[in-house]
Amino acid sequence: MPREALRGRGFKGAITMIGDEPHPPYERPQLSKAMLLSADAPVAYIKQPRDWNEALGVRLETGTAATDCDADRRIVSTADGRSFAFDRLLLATGTRPRRLAALDGGPLHVQYLRNVEDALRFRRHIAARARIVIVGGGVVGLEAACAAAKSGCLVTVIESEPRLLARAFPASVSALVADRHRSHGVQFVFGSTVTGSTSHSVRLGNGTEIPADLVLAGIGVTPSGDLATRLGLPSADGIAVDANGRTAVSDVFCAGDAALQWSRCHGRAIRVETWANAQNQAIAVAANMIGEINAYNAPPWFWTDQYDLDIQVVGDMRDADHIARGDPASAKFSIIAVRGTEVVGGLAVNAAKDMAMLRRIIAANAKPSRGDLESPGYDLQTALRSQ
Ligand SMILES: Cc1cc2nc3c(=O)[nH]c(=O)nc-3n(C[C@H](O)[C@H](O)[C@H](O)COP(=O)(O)OP(=O)(O)OC[C@H]3O[C@@H](n4cnc5c(N)ncnc54)[C@H](O)[C@@H]3O)c2cc1C
Repeated sequence: MPREALRGRGFKGAITMIGDEPHPPYERPQLSKAMLLSADAPVAYIKQPRDWNEALGVRLETGTAATDCDADRRIVSTADGRSFAFDRLLLATGTRPRRLAALDGGPLHVQYLRNVEDALRFRRHIAARARIVIVGGGVVGLEAACAAAKSGCLVTVIESEPRLLARAFPASVSALVADRHRSHGVQFVFGSTVTGSTSHSVRLGNGTEIPADLVLAGIGVTPSGDLATRLGLPSADGIAVDANGRTAVSDVFCAGDAALQWSRCHGRAIRVETWANAQNQAIAVAANMIGEINAYNAPPWFWTDQYDLDIQVVGDMRDADHIARGDPASAKFSIIAVRGTEVVGGLAVNAAKDMAMLRRIIAANAKPSRGDLESPGYDLQTALRSQ
C-alpha cells in the first residue's frame, strides 16, 4: 500500500488520502467471496481509521470526490469545495462498473458488485432466495453465482461469448467451471445478450424470457478517469504510465486498476484489474514518488474461488501453445502458455505450488525448454535454478 510504503521508507511529509466512498480503504475481493458466502462476514477493512491517523500519520478524507486538479498550481479540489495542495499526486481512482444500458432504468432491479453497499444489498437478495439473472460470466459474476447457488437461489448466467472467461481461460477450464456451476444448479445461456425486462423477467435477444427478481450485471469496468481528464491526460483506455508509474504530467503518478501499463507477457499496454497489481504496483510507485527509481513489471496475476476450485492465472494465456501438467480429471492441474521460447502465461486449478513457480519463472523471464515443460516429472523449480 502506498502510504505504508512511504512511511516504511522514512517519508516524513504530509500524506492525504481522498476517497469518495464513505468507508476507509477495504479489500474488494471479499465482496464477491466471504461477504456473500456468510451472512455476517464483516467488511475487510485494510486498517481502522484510527490506525491511519495515529499510526501512519495519514489524513484520511472519506466521502468526498476529488473533482478538479490544477497541475500548475498543484492543487486538488473536492466536491465539497475544499482544496488540497500537493508536491506529488497519485491517481489511484480505479474503475467503475460498465452500465447495462439495455436494462438500466427498466422495471426490474439491476445492481452491480463493486463496493460494500453493493455486496450488502446482494447478500440480502441471496438470503431472500431471489431468482437471480447474472449478466456476464466473468470472475465477479461467477463468484456471485457461486454464492447465490450455494444459498439455494435460482441462478441463470447470461454470457455473450460462447464460453466462460474466454479471454483468460483455455476452453477446457471454461468447461470445467461451467460444469461445477451446473452441478450446483446454475443455468447458462451462452452467445446471447439481454434486450429488456419486465418487473419479473429478463428478455433475451431471441425473445426468450427468463424469470427474475433481480439482475446482477458483471459486464466489465471502465477506468475512473475524470480527474485525469482535468489534467489533460487521456483516460478512456486507462491512464498511461511508464514503468515507474509516471503519467505524462510532471509529478503526477498513477497505479492500480486505472493505470495503463506495458505488459511483456501481452506485448502491449494493458490495464491490470487485480488485487496484487493494486498492491504491488502502488508500493513500487510510492517509492518512485520520493525519488527512488523502481521499475514495476510483475506479470499480472489473479485468483478466483468457486466451489472447490481455486483457480489462479498469471500472464497471458491467449495466442500461445498450452502445455498441461497434472490430472484434469481430478481437478488438480496446471496449464503453461508458451509463445516461441517464452513462458508467457500459466493457469493453475488447485495447484498453488505450480502457480508460485510459474509466477517466478515468468517474472524472471526464465526459458525452460518445451521438452522439459512437457516432461511429467519436470520440477518447475529447475527452470529458476538454471537462471
Ligand atoms: C467484487 C470484486 C471481487 C474481486 N476479486 C478479486 C480477486 O479475487 N482477485 C483479484 O486479484 N482481484 C479481485 N478484484 C479486483 C481488485 O479488487 C481490484 O483490482 C482492486 O480493488 C483495484 O484497486 P484500486 O485501488 O486500483 O481501485 P479501486 O479498488 O477501484 O479503488 C479506487 C477508489 O477510488 C475512488 N475514486 C474514484 N474516483 C475518485 C475521485 N475522483 N475522488 C475520490 N475517490 C475516487 C473509488 O470510489 C474507489 O473507492 C475484485 C474486484 C471486485 C470489485
